[in-house]
Amino acid sequence: MSWVRRLARPDILALEPYEYATWREGFTRLNANELPWRASGDESDAGLNRYPEPQARALIERLAHLYRVSAGTLLICRGSDEAIDLLVRAFCRAGEDAVAVCPPTFGMYAVAARIQGARVIEVPLLAKKGFALDTSTLVERCTGGPVKLVFLCSPNNPTGNLLDASAILEVADALAGRALVVVDQAYIEFASDTAVDALLTRTPVLTAESALTSTEIKDTLLRVPRAPNLAILRTLSKAHGLAGARLGTLVARPDVIELVRKVIPPYAVPQVILEAVIALLSPLHLRTLPRRIAQVRAERTRMQQALAALPGVTGVLPSDANFLLARFTDPAQALERASAARLLVRDARSYPGLQDALRITIGTPEQNDMLLRTWI
Ligand SMILES: *Cc1c(COP(=O)(O)O)cnc(C)c1O
Repeated sequence: MSWVRRLARPDILALEPYEYATWREGFTRLNANELPWRASGDESDAGLNRYPEPQARALIERLAHLYRVSAGTLLICRGSDEAIDLLVRAFCRAGEDAVAVCPPTFGMYAVAARIQGARVIEVPLLAKKGFALDTSTLVERCTGGPVKLVFLCSPNNPTGNLLDASAILEVADALAGRALVVVDQAYIEFASDTAVDALLTRTPVLTAESALTSTEIKDTLLRVPRAPNLAILRTLSKAHGLAGARLGTLVARPDVIELVRKVIPPYAVPQVILEAVIALLSPLHLRTLPRRIAQVRAERTRMQQALAALPGVTGVLPSDANFLLARFTDPAQALERASAARLLVRDARSYPGLQDALRITIGTPEQNDMLLRTWI
């Protein structure tokens, strides 16, 4: 039995998923109890009277091209938030299994685990080492116990730092066959180019896929000969500017994708979103993306220096994301002042070790200036 089947919840392995009405292009659909006419004013391409295509092929192909992986290694989800939830549901038995997280980090991993009734094992990042992974403790806590999933966030929210790619691989290798290591790369597009490349070429892709769309993808595949126990979360919510579309992607081995697909609602992504996102992931968008990312990075550098120079700021963490975490002598007052100027920043004080910190999203230069002015 493959390790994926061993790790999966047995009842999900055995589950007969909901059988949705067969989707076949070019056929007249008299099989799904849809109305045969469009609602008046419905100007969508496919017609909103029809259920959307599950795991729509056109979007899968766009995303496979974007992330340079093969189609069979992708699952389209309603944001990476849904991917996190589905992974926990597919792997963790309530009251028995656990996930490992490395705080301070994104809160959804622990919330999804608790909703499922899974335990949460915390192995804090090393604050003194720039919030690096505590590799040996993590491996130790995940060995021989109930941990099925390890959630790593790189760049990490809320601290902004990249986790060392070799440390991630070390954890994955040490837990091979025993846990799935899920790397959340929601902010990876904002990281330095070399870091992005290093992580992208380590994305877990399998060579058995036939659905390659270009020789470029093939080349990437060939450079990744092994299929580690890594899964990657990507999202269109951050650098792509499509948070409102709720579109995230799980990248993993085809057997993991197949398993998780058993628990995703069949018509997860609405037709209007499918059409909008397919249209938006155009060559034009992909050409403008680097410019936007460069703008965010430039403002990030400027804000990092400007914030650090403010009298009430005791430190600003270096960031590979589109936000900065700053420490304040009086964070409550900084929050109040921002709020008085009708500016919202994120209170990070409840995270362990960040009792004096606020998280600031990089805005437009004008917005950033407004924020700086409230704190001068
Ligand atoms: C914003 C964010 C996401 C994105 O979630 P979506 O559901 O795709 O919008 C995922 N992970 C982290 C760490 C985030 O900060």
